Amino acid sequence: MVNQELLEILRCPLDPSHTKLNLEESSLVCERCALRFPIKDGLPVLVVEEAQLPDGCSSLEQLPCQTGSDGKPCRPMKDHLPS
Ligand SMILES: [Zn+2]
Repeated sequence: MVNQELLEILRCPLDPSHTKLNLEESSLVCERCALRFPIKDGLPVLVVEEAQLPDGCSSLEQLPCQTGSDGKPCRPMKDHLPS
């Protein structure tokens, strides 16, 4: 289980300045983009490529925070592409 203090400082890598993560069962869910990050051996894996997309999204580009519909787009996706 992830302890509360750790949970307080964890942020979604897509938008570290605005997000909070909610503990749900055995994963962490971003309250902004709804990505679901797995917890492996008690450690949250905050890797976008490992995260599960929310219902209705088939790619990261379809996440609400990536479309900029709320006026505050996340960081450019190029930050997350493998080099
Ligand atoms: Zn997020």
